Amino acid sequence: MLNKKISIISGIGPKYEEYLNNIGIKTIRDLFYYMPYDYEDRRFPTSLSEVKTNNKNLIKIKITKEPRIIRTRGNLTILTTEGRDDSGKIEIKWFNQNFIKNKIINNKTYYLFGTIKRDKGKLNITNPEFSSQLGDKLGVIYPKYSLTKGLTNNFIKKIVNKVFDSYFNELDDLFPKETLNRYNLISRKEAVKNIHYPDDFEKLKKSIRYIEIEKLILMQIAFQKRKNIIKSNKSKTINLNKNIKKIIEKLPFELTQYQKKVFKEITEDMNKGTSMNRLLQGDVGSGKTIIAFLTLINVSFQGYQGALMVPTEVLAKQHFNKFKKMFGYLDIKVEVLYSSLKDKKKKEIFSKIKTGEISIIIGTHSLIQKEINFKNLAYIITDEQHRFGVEQRASLVNKGEHPHNLVMSATPIPRTLAMIIYNDLDISTIDKNPPGRKKVKTYIINNENKGKLYKFLKTKIYRGEQAYIVSPIIEDSDKLENISSAQKIFNNFLKGNFKKEDVCLLHGKMSTDESEKIINSFSEGKCKILISTTVIEVGVDIQNATIMIIINAERFGLAQLHQLRGRVGRGEKQSYCFLVSDSDKEKSIKRLNILERTTNGFEISKEDLKLRGPGEFLGTKQSGIPEEFLNFDMENIDISKKIKDIIMKNININDKKYDKILKEAVDIYKDRIKIS
Ligand code: ADP
Ligand code: MG
Repeated sequence: MLNKKISIISGIGPKYEEYLNNIGIKTIRDLFYYMPYDYEDRRFPTSLSEVKTNNKNLIKIKITKEPRIIRTRGNLTILTTEGRDDSGKIEIKWFNQNFIKNKIINNKTYYLFGTIKRDKGKLNITNPEFSSQLGDKLGVIYPKYSLTKGLTNNFIKKIVNKVFDSYFNELDDLFPKETLNRYNLISRKEAVKNIHYPDDFEKLKKSIRYIEIEKLILMQIAFQKRKNIIKSNKSKTINLNKNIKKIIEKLPFELTQYQKKVFKEITEDMNKGTSMNRLLQGDVGSGKTIIAFLTLINVSFQGYQGALMVPTEVLAKQHFNKFKKMFGYLDIKVEVLYSSLKDKKKKEIFSKIKTGEISIIIGTHSLIQKEINFKNLAYIITDEQHRFGVEQRASLVNKGEHPHNLVMSATPIPRTLAMIIYNDLDISTIDKNPPGRKKVKTYIINNENKGKLYKFLKTKIYRGEQAYIVSPIIEDSDKLENISSAQKIFNNFLKGNFKKEDVCLLHGKMSTDESEKIINSFSEGKCKILISTTVIEVGVDIQNATIMIIINAERFGLAQLHQLRGRVGRGEKQSYCFLVSDSDKEKSIKRLNILERTTNGFEISKEDLKLRGPGEFLGTKQSGIPEEFLNFDMENIDISKKIKDIIMKNININDKKYDKILKEAVDIYKDRIKIS
């Protein structure tokens, strides 16, 4: 019944159906779950002597003047009257609503709701809502719904009333009583009723909590179902080659226990005959690349091809060179592909990919172009996955027959959150970085001390070290006058006492060619100070860079600051990160303090999530995660995960009691994830 189209409600014709569809309401269920974005407390009348001016108030007054209509020169009509209670009087006006004249009768008592102002000592209210008794709109906590063209709050409220009249009884509880009790959840009916007709704010809070948790549970169940379907795809069985052990022994370092753990998880998963779909997450510098290389090599030993896709040309070349350096002694044909290669070279690579002569190909999104056909692609890896769209990853997947799929992410997040965001992926985590690294010393400083900082920078540069300076904006803007743009810092450096050739500027508006040139010049040590926007956030590995200065650090997400800081501390020398900020907001300072205190990405994300919630922490654009996934409360996420686990266990043993939940999850998500 809940799946019925909204058009079965009387009063909803094709036009209104379209308007409602535009805000995501297609079925009866959608309407029940259409959450108001705000509520107005219209419960208790205030006496005129106690109203809050410039705010909305509910008042109870007697009309004390015959209402009359005035016509202005601009052809506007104003209906005016006056009302009183024991404590005072108020002037009342409605613009262009003459029909109200017959509804407001002198000497009768009404409730009015609207913004009250004081003008020359006198109270007035304009276009108030009114009623002679409390009930549906006045005397209640009033829901405000997001609207779109063609819809009014009143209209939505009316159809919500109708849907409640006809279908409310069909809203059976989804979860068993003992689950509700254990997690202190109110019933489904109570929750749905209270988001539209709240009894009080306490109840409303509990209802929102229930709705959020229910949504999270159903979402996870649906995606888990899809995951099971994907997993039933047959993929090449990849055995662990016995030579891999020797190769690992020959590495210049010993793999950490955490790297060994994820290596095992990945290789075992690829050995099952079904598709691997896995996220490898680990902090900046945790050593994900070597895991990617080893698993690629293992695939190539079995005679299949593997591909590693990275977001930038610099990164592609970096990985390629590293691979050659570490594994050049092996008889494996590896190549690198990116758009600025000569056509001739590209064609050669294309043909060798087709014949299978190349076993491992490392490249940018050039890898997904139509011209590329693999002989037997069995494994694909996407590095820094947040830089790619879902479609881009899918196009690479389609170049093989259900190739095993590994995505790597350097935005470490708590496991439960990761499971929801990366819903259909299994997760491997490198929990700790290799030992023996020098910690990047991190300091928060204010602009006043920038002079000292630049002196320090100068001595370091004279000693041959290099630095990054990052600003949140490219050019100065009137709106953000307190922020030094990358361009301005660059200009100041040219004027100041640094040598011209030592300083370079990089930002996202430059062409790929230009930015490649600049990064290369920095990487070769020709340019000493790289001033940029956040374009350098991803993966660049320049060991001689020891200083990271971030201007207006309070404007960045902690995950991003952590990524930026990860650009230094890669070599032998002590590295430094300076967070320049004049912010005096307690929350900003608290956040930056987290970075000063720890260099552990997981800890940072946990703290920041507590302070700001997942939405602000990840940032939609940055993470490529749909917004709706981000507004959840972390505690609700944890609870939903626990309940989901119990439910899934029962679904998997075909407990009929849980059919209803599974059906509900499939009903809601079937269009989006093609599971039925
Ligand atoms: P990320 O996980 O951020 O991609 P990388 O794979 O680039 O990190 O690794 C960072 C550095 O650590 C590289 O120079 C790599 O060679 C080195 N490394 C990887 N694993 C180990 C290890 N077990 N011991 C010491 N150094 C390691
Ligand atoms: Mg990396």
